[in-house]
Amino acid sequence: MKSFPIGARLTAWYFGILAVVLSLFSLTAYFAMRNSIYRTVDDELRARMEGVRRLIDRTARYEPEDLRRELREHSELAGNTLLQVADQQGNWLYRSPSTDRYEIPKLRGTSAVPSTLALNNVPLRVLSAEIQVGDQSYFAQAAVPLDDFYSALHLFATLLLVSVPILLLSAAAGGYWISRRALAPVDQITQTARSISVHNLSSRLIVPQTGDELQRLSETLNSMLERLEAAFKKIIQFTADASHELRTPVAVMRTRTELSLRKPRSAEEYREALAQVHSELEKTSELVEQLMLLARADYGVEALQLSTEDLRQIVRDVCGQGKALSEAKEIEFQDQMSRQPVWVKADAHALWRLFLILIHNAIKYTPKGGRVAVVVRQENGFAIGEVRDTGIGIAPEDLPNVFERFYRADKARSRESGGVGLGLSIGRWIAEAHGGTIEVGSSLGGGSIFTLRLPLIDGEPPELKSAN
Ligand code: ADP
Repeated sequence: MKSFPIGARLTAWYFGILAVVLSLFSLTAYFAMRNSIYRTVDDELRARMEGVRRLIDRTARYEPEDLRRELREHSELAGNTLLQVADQQGNWLYRSPSTDRYEIPKLRGTSAVPSTLALNNVPLRVLSAEIQVGDQSYFAQAAVPLDDFYSALHLFATLLLVSVPILLLSAAAGGYWISRRALAPVDQITQTARSISVHNLSSRLIVPQTGDELQRLSETLNSMLERLEAAFKKIIQFTADASHELRTPVAVMRTRTELSLRKPRSAEEYREALAQVHSELEKTSELVEQLMLLARADYGVEALQLSTEDLRQIVRDVCGQGKALSEAKEIEFQDQMSRQPVWVKADAHALWRLFLILIHNAIKYTPKGGRVAVVVRQENGFAIGEVRDTGIGIAPEDLPNVFERFYRADKARSRESGGVGLGLSIGRWIAEAHGGTIEVGSSLGGGSIFTLRLPLIDGEPPELKSAN
């Protein structure tokens, strides 16, 4: 059943339920009609019998001839109800003219409920009664032929037997047609979806403006396609950028080695060439390492080793490097650490790396004579790490993109200083993997502030408390 199309399955269910309902309805209607006929006939028989009882009671003291006449008159008024009355000795006092046809047996023993007999192939409903008047007892029987009623019942049953299957078949055909019509857009969606591949990811499904589930399904699929397309474009862009960035150092190394090998050189010249190749190799391996990290992060396998850390300690370690670098560039370097420990759940190495990126950038993009400040503090239940500089700043149009992969606001300057535009995207991943955020505020020529916000462990962390 599962392999059948939905339309056929719906129709089969619909057909099955309707068949059960209609059969129950037909059976109920048939038996209700049959019962109602019996009830009407039985009431009629009882009324007749009561009439005969009263009549005999009234005329029993007359001559039998008078009784017979009275019974005949009574019987003639009784329509198609048959009547036969016998005296105590079993002699018929009166029999309706057509009783002979049925030869109703003298059923001794009476009951308040009439019974049904089939006499000469004609069904009869018969009520028998003993009527006692003084010391005389009479035996009376009233009967109604049921053949007319039975043929009406039969006609009704035939009507049901013919009309119910016709009704069922037409309802099932109608149901199938409606379900096919309702599901036709699903076929259309399937066909369009099947035709979409990586080559035409920009195609979209036609959205039926019906305001129903199908419209919602198409819209949901379209927004999924949009996300897929964006992710796919990002991957393509990432691969293209990565290859591009790798090509430059490889080309430099190749040219340098080819030039060196063209003719014999002095040891000094070889050393110089090797030093240049080594420098390019360092950049390349840094790039490859960054690419690997991002790929592993995307794939979800770059796991953090979280432990309770004092953010001040991690930042202090990076500041050591920062100071040395800024001194070489004649930049003032300040650090302002909170007096209390700033406890966070963190991977110390990853956070160290994040601050190294921010401090390196601050020094890289701040000219001689400028200032770089690193601040660690607590604020509203968050651990805050800030790296500020008085450097070149970032233009408003570049601000939203600086955390994107391979994005460089000033391409020439950035490459010159060895950056490929991956540092901040790695930084953002680290911040988010810690359940935190990283934001930038900057203006062109007005310096920049990068702010990391991490959830703070309130008070003294439990593991340190127990160690005390
Ligand atoms: P890069 O390796 O090029 O520095 P990043 O991802 O670290 O790459 O930074 C992306 C871009 O953001 C940089 O190319 C630079 O243009 C801009 N940027 C980052 N930090 C700063 C800063 N402190 N001052 C000015 N511009 C910055």
